[in-house]
Amino acid sequence: MDDYIIRAVTVGGQVRAFAAVTNNTVGEAASIHNLSPVASAALGRTLTAAAIMSKMLKSEGNIITIQIKGDGPLGGVVVVSDYQANLRGYIYNPEVYIPLNSKGKLDVAGAIGKGYLNVIMDLGLKEPYIGYVDLVSGEIAEDIAYYFAYSEQTPSIVSLGVLVSPEGKILSSGGFIIQLMPDAEEETISFLEKRIKDIPSVTTMLYEGKTPEDILKYIFEGMELKISDKSPCKYKCNCSKERMERGIISLGKKEIQGMIKEQKGAEAQCHFCNKKYWFNAEELEKLM
Ligand code: ZN
Repeated sequence: MDDYIIRAVTVGGQVRAFAAVTNNTVGEAASIHNLSPVASAALGRTLTAAAIMSKMLKSEGNIITIQIKGDGPLGGVVVVSDYQANLRGYIYNPEVYIPLNSKGKLDVAGAIGKGYLNVIMDLGLKEPYIGYVDLVSGEIAEDIAYYFAYSEQTPSIVSLGVLVSPEGKILSSGGFIIQLMPDAEEETISFLEKRIKDIPSVTTMLYEGKTPEDILKYIFEGMELKISDKSPCKYKCNCSKERMERGIISLGKKEIQGMIKEQKGAEAQCHFCNKKYWFNAEELEKLM
């Protein structure tokens, strides 16, 4: 199955819902960064959240960044998506191995620890919008739900999951976000709350071969749902030598002079795709 995201609304517009399958995107991230299983789960959940949230952006050129910073061994997560759901991301410490949690699952909360989550939306305005919340669980889905409730005053049900084999292969990855609009009736809310408790995990459903459409139809069983959009997502870095120049310039004159003298050049590596760019002495002179 190719990776994609769907958007849907209930008839009457009380609830909007998004669902995504991200197996290939997360598989690509895991292979680029040589992620451990718990790092795959953490980065994969965040990539899926960003894929879905890119569909909440307003227009071409808008960019969403999710940053998670924790005091656990993973250190932090950074994920960026553009309007077309071209996704990229990295984990501070990608090769962390920690024991499974008490439920026998990958311990994402333990690997992230205590900290905060930032959502930065560049909507092409003078200043980007920045939402900031403390982590409530470190499991990421709950933290994103808390972000929506706290920063955007939108009650949301968020489910994000990555199923990883013991060898580190991504078996399934995806998620959904369901949001209640201000006119949502109490009845609809209690129906969804109960329904979410009854259904299998999103990774189980995807692993069984269910599509994002199947998953939303299953959750909203008996309610009329209109699927309004389907669009692809993928892992795609947008780095270039020109973009890397900015990083080198920010090191300052003295540092650059040192690199010319000692190494006759400098190597810059992209955090998101690990591609390396070499700047020779002449190019560094120009940057100074
Ligand atoms: Zn790159």
